[in-house]
Amino acid sequence: MIPRDHPRYHSLVQREKLVRGYEQGIAVPEGLIAHGRGEAFDYLIGETTIPPARRAIRAAAAALLLASSPVISVNGNTASLCAEQLVSLAKTAGAKLEVNLFYRSSDRARRIARVLRRAGASEVLGVEPEAEIPDLSSQRRLVSRRGIYSADVVLLAVEDGDRTEALVEMGKRVIAIDLNPLSRTARRASITIVDEVTRALPLLTEEVRSLRGLDVAKLRKLASFDNSANLKAVLEHISRRLTELCPDF
Ligand code: ATP
Repeated sequence: MIPRDHPRYHSLVQREKLVRGYEQGIAVPEGLIAHGRGEAFDYLIGETTIPPARRAIRAAAAALLLASSPVISVNGNTASLCAEQLVSLAKTAGAKLEVNLFYRSSDRARRIARVLRRAGASEVLGVEPEAEIPDLSSQRRLVSRRGIYSADVVLLAVEDGDRTEALVEMGKRVIAIDLNPLSRTARRASITIVDEVTRALPLLTEEVRSLRGLDVAKLRKLASFDNSANLKAVLEHISRRLTELCPDF
């Protein structure tokens, strides 16, 4: 039992959820390590949604509303941490949900689909994938033809760079949620939200709600996004923060 007044309460709850996900065969040990990399960057960012992330969230919301076939890609970490938030975003944005795993097994894919359905999803793709992303050797190449394969916009979080690159190569607009502004995913995605996934998802859902109803021209303007410039703003934020935290260094 984690005391609510513990200064790292939220972070400890996240860890507990991931460990539970691991015990239930949803997350893999490698996913727990990947989470640690994210935590380190969150520490540097200040464990809060920073202005460049807000700008990326706005662009991502506009891109989702403009999409004709948006898909949210789900892995073991995101299913363990935020299944309800993923389902809520999918419903609000009219996006499909698809399980996509690096360490894939049919059993794990089915378990994740079950978690999403329990969280309210009516349909979960990717359990029996029948298509492949070209030029990708990992298990992540296995996708649903009605889902990621034919999507025009794919949202992914806590991902490695290979698949992001392959999806961009296929001509898709990729929205990534990734705490590491230096990762290949962050640099290769079309719109990178440098924020913790459970902080970013509700804000993104809210933004989709608030932009709905805007005309296409306005949405296009909001969705046009300079990802490199935004990542630079994140790095400047981290650098300023480090200087403020350690003025004597
Ligand atoms: P790349 O191949 O893109 O350079 P990587 O090798 O670091 O990335 P992984 O080891 O799969 O890829 O790590 C997943 C990424 O997800 C890391 O960049 C990590 O910072 C990020 N991450 C981990 N946990 C979270 C989280 N809770 N919210 C957002 N991002 C996270």
